[in-house]
Amino acid sequence: MLEILKDLLNKNENRIILIVLDGLGDLPDPKETALEIAKTPNLDKLAKMSSFGLTVPISPGITPGSGPSHLSMFGYDPITCQIGRGVIEALGIGLDVEKDDLAIRANFATLKDNIVVDRRAGRISTEECARLCNKLQAAIREVEKIPVVIKPAKEHRFVIKFRGAQLSEDLTDADPQKENLAPVSAKPKNDAAKKTAPVINTFIKRAQDVLKDERKANYVLLRGYAKNPNLQPMSDRYGINPAAIATYPMYRGLARLVGMSVLKTGETISDEVKTLKENYLKYDFFYFHIKGTDKAGEDGNQALKVSFIEEFDKSLSDILKLKPHVLAITADHSTPTILHSHSWHPNPFLLCSQYVIPEKKRFTERNCAVGTLGKIRSLDIMPLLLAHSLKLKKFGA
Ligand code: ZN
Repeated sequence: MLEILKDLLNKNENRIILIVLDGLGDLPDPKETALEIAKTPNLDKLAKMSSFGLTVPISPGITPGSGPSHLSMFGYDPITCQIGRGVIEALGIGLDVEKDDLAIRANFATLKDNIVVDRRAGRISTEECARLCNKLQAAIREVEKIPVVIKPAKEHRFVIKFRGAQLSEDLTDADPQKENLAPVSAKPKNDAAKKTAPVINTFIKRAQDVLKDERKANYVLLRGYAKNPNLQPMSDRYGINPAAIATYPMYRGLARLVGMSVLKTGETISDEVKTLKENYLKYDFFYFHIKGTDKAGEDGNQALKVSFIEEFDKSLSDILKLKPHVLAITADHSTPTILHSHSWHPNPFLLCSQYVIPEKKRFTERNCAVGTLGKIRSLDIMPLLLAHSLKLKKFGA
């Protein structure tokens, strides 16, 4: 698909807004979904002028993380463009991973008589983790002249980033994976990684020395080494000038990985709308992310999920005043409240442009299942959006 796309690109000023309500898709709980229950006058009005469909993030039956499901929505095959866990973890805590950086997931652990007796150091608190990371960072600024950044994540987890060196990600985990085993060092999986392994192992030794007086967290385990996948920017791929509006670090980071300009914004949906309005003339593609629906789904809190949808609905009228040529509303994956987690269910998808067959129905999972757009892969969203904004020429004579 992509090969032909690049010959079909037709640049114009038409604007596209892709609104992603994270984890929007739901299941009846017990009889209706959050979208069905929510009072959404603005969305109802928009829905009457829009086409519906369902999108499949990866493939039927596969429950995706937000990383791969976002890549898929942006048109990057999530199977061939896998982003390593270290990079995802780094993005999640707001740490950018530039070209040539190596990001690593790490745990604080408890070592006793050279045996890893607790891989999570007694599940220390996030505050304790921050204190320990500060302690490590103060003592270890670089390893073999390579700058190191150490940042806390949740509980016993943290992220290490080696900056801008020619390091390899092809190393074995410096983690025995199970408790009551001796620690293991990182070993190169190929010749290219031979120089990297000693850097990692030196870091571990030095960290152990810095932490030697700690009662619980006196050791570190490293795994998930990953580099920036250097994806082709969306501007090259689609001939657009894309911008991202998202409040959470992980989504801002994912947007940066595909070359979007990430706009400064506040914490609420109305802050995000304000950012959209202020920047509307500067870009022709906007990825607009709303996190609340996914969090409420993970908490199994239907009332909260409904209230996020209703809050979004209030902001929608301001978005519509911008009169984008194409407006799509969907999700990266479903997060049904009865499952308290991401799921494999396809996402409701709404597309509004001058060139759709209006459904004249409310935007719900059930109505999307019989929508005129049918069931498509999330990977096909971008070509659809480009086509509806007349940014694609005819294929063949
Ligand atoms: Zn998500």
